[in-house]
Amino acid sequence: MLIKSKILRSAHAFSTREGGVSTLEHTKSLNLAFGRGDSDEVVLKNLEIFAEAVGIDPHGIISVPQIHSDIIYKVGRADAGEGYYKRANIREGDGYITDEKGITLGVKAADCVPILFEAEKGGELIAVGAVHAGWRGTVAGIAAKCVRMLCEEYNVAPSDIRAVIGPCIHKCCYEVGEDLKMAVEQRLGKEMSDLFVVPSADVENKYFCDLVGLNRHLLLEAGILPENLDVVDLCSCCHPELFFSHRFSNGKRGTMLNVISLGL
Ligand SMILES: [Zn+2]
Repeated sequence: MLIKSKILRSAHAFSTREGGVSTLEHTKSLNLAFGRGDSDEVVLKNLEIFAEAVGIDPHGIISVPQIHSDIIYKVGRADAGEGYYKRANIREGDGYITDEKGITLGVKAADCVPILFEAEKGGELIAVGAVHAGWRGTVAGIAAKCVRMLCEEYNVAPSDIRAVIGPCIHKCCYEVGEDLKMAVEQRLGKEMSDLFVVPSADVENKYFCDLVGLNRHLLLEAGILPENLDVVDLCSCCHPELFFSHRFSNGKRGTMLNVISLGL
């Protein structure tokens, strides 16, 4: 049901598709997003099951609709529930930071790259962050932006921050076109594009994009120390029995949730 990283001390998890109550072929069984075919009741039941396994309060989670932006909100316990239990007049965005307990940051994904952050100073956890990085968020630099915001808001250094890249589509399965290659080149430079968007051996004008490599590079460049950076080495598209994958399912799929919290 959930995957954790050894380097994080806070309550956190990357969900898999196992262990929930969704019964539709494409959402079974732990779909954690509305609007994918399950009733709202089923989604909220899944949220309760997942939250209990992680050891967090489902009502404490914030996870608003994601728009492939680089928008990151600084949130507190007053924002808890936004996106699941509060659904009217809510924000849209792709990341959060907080230094408060009583709220859990949640980013959804089904191939896109979820990244969880925690900042520790003097042996004490003082802040957490979470971002959703599809290719648009990746080239917009949302991963590095989260590091900058944690440093500015909570007076920590990049070396105080640990980051984990969760399950997502890897370069083995992420075939892309010329447009994505050009977007990476324009936003991040030719060197990055040459390194992380490599031509397909079989198909002309097709490439394989390494979103994990790009985000890893951007996080290291932002000052995260290599020993404080972990990657869950599982491709969502290679393991359709374990993960929801947008690419593998041609878009007909459930959604996973990835969470981190300083505590109840
Ligand atoms: Zn793969």
